[in-house]
Order: sequence, then C-alpha cells, then structure tokens
Amino acid sequence: MKKKLIAGNWKMNGSLAANEALIKALLAGLNNPGCAIAVCVPAIYLAQVRTLVAESPIDVGAQDVSQHESGAFTGEISAAMLKEAGIRYAIVGHSERRQYHLESDAVVALKAQRALACGVTPIVCVGETLAEREAGKTEEVVKRQLAAVIHTNGHCISEIVVAYEPVWAIGTGKTASPEQAQAVHAVLRAQLAAATPNAERVQILYGGSMNAANAAQLLSQADIDGGLVGGASLKAPDFLSIIAAAL
Ligand code: PEP
Repeated sequence: MKKKLIAGNWKMNGSLAANEALIKALLAGLNNPGCAIAVCVPAIYLAQVRTLVAESPIDVGAQDVSQHESGAFTGEISAAMLKEAGIRYAIVGHSERRQYHLESDAVVALKAQRALACGVTPIVCVGETLAEREAGKTEEVVKRQLAAVIHTNGHCISEIVVAYEPVWAIGTGKTASPEQAQAVHAVLRAQLAAATPNAERVQILYGGSMNAANAAQLLSQADIDGGLVGGASLKAPDFLSIIAAAL
C-alpha cells in the first residue's frame, strides 16, 4: 500500500530561531512515522531546514519554482537549484500564487514540468473558490486546472503529487467534509486514470484547515492520500497529531 504524505506549508512564516525550535520539536516527537513527511519552507530557509532534518524522515519542499530553466528572471529560483540543494518537493499553483501572482493554469503546468525535469516532485494544487462551488462549478474548475498539467506533462504525470485545496477552506477554519473532499478526490483520480495506467500511485492530498481534530476522518477516505497543512504545520504538537493520524 502506498504511504500517505503529510506536507506542511509554512507559507511566509518563520525565523532562524523559530525554525530550529519547530524542527527540533518535530524530530523529538516523531516516533517511527507511518507516513512520508515534508515541510515546505520559505526559500531563504531551505538550506537551514535541509541541514536540520538531515538523516531524518522529514523531506524539504519549496513553496514555488520558476517555470524557466535559467537566465534573466530576477528573483526566481530554478528547479535545478532546488535539486542541487537536496529539495524533494515544490508546491506549484497554490491558490495564493494563482490569486496574488496571477499564475495561470499554463504557468502552473510549466512549473510542474520544470520540476519533473530536474527530479523535484511538484505538489500541484487545484481547488475552487466559494463562488465557484456555489455555482456548481467545482468539478469543472479542478478538472480544468489538472488538465493543463496533464496536457503538458504527458507520460510523467504519475510522478506528480496533487493537492486538492478548496480555496474557501484555506486558512479559514472551514474544512471540506470528508465526503465533499472524497467526492472531488475521486474525480481527480478518474481524470488521472484516463491519462496514466499508474493513477493509483499518485498521492492526492487534501488541504484546507486540516488540523489535529479533523485529520483522521479526512485521511480515512479512500482517495485521500495525505494532507497539505498550512497553519497547523507551524505548531509541532498539531503537526505531529496529523502525522500520527496518517496510517
Ligand atoms: C495551505 O496553505 O496550503 C493550507 C492548506 O493552509 P491551512 O491549512 O492553514 O488552511
């Protein structure tokens, strides 16, 4: 059976001292985890956190990656640079980047492509806004977002991680019910199955106010293979509880 993946998204939080304290608390509390674990940290802390988690079960991820290979793209970080720094994952298409940085489906697909080409696993985020859900467009939106990534990445598609993150549930304290989340995950799985014989291998994470209290129920759904965890990943006891729920 494939292992679940619990990935923390620290967003724009942290400091050298706070990161060290958080990672030390996580390492002290990890007891033979039954799932894969990652923390996706601000770019400036990738090297620090990579050193802190060396020889541990925790992998490190970036929160974004450039769609370009190299060159005159001030401020960008390439997939090759992430790979060289020992970074395993890169989140692409997080709703905050789609919203505040106007990243299109096509750009997200290129970012996933660059990551895959360099051996960095993209965590591809898809999800609908509240208005889209209320208009009955959830399925159409997530399928459109994933279709762009499938179209651009063809035969490599079974190497990605997908994160279903309903925008209305991110950082709001509102969580999709396990049934709502499972329904969308099943749609995404079917879409992947039409593109690759290895769709069962793809980890489809749920993200959106996952916490110590709701994780077990969400993670028990058939097509929920882990979590992308924002706020609760900044508190060691909460993140450890979610990890413990991921069996
Ligand atoms: C996220 O930022 O990916 C996320 C899911 O945030 P939160 O858990 O805080 O809703």
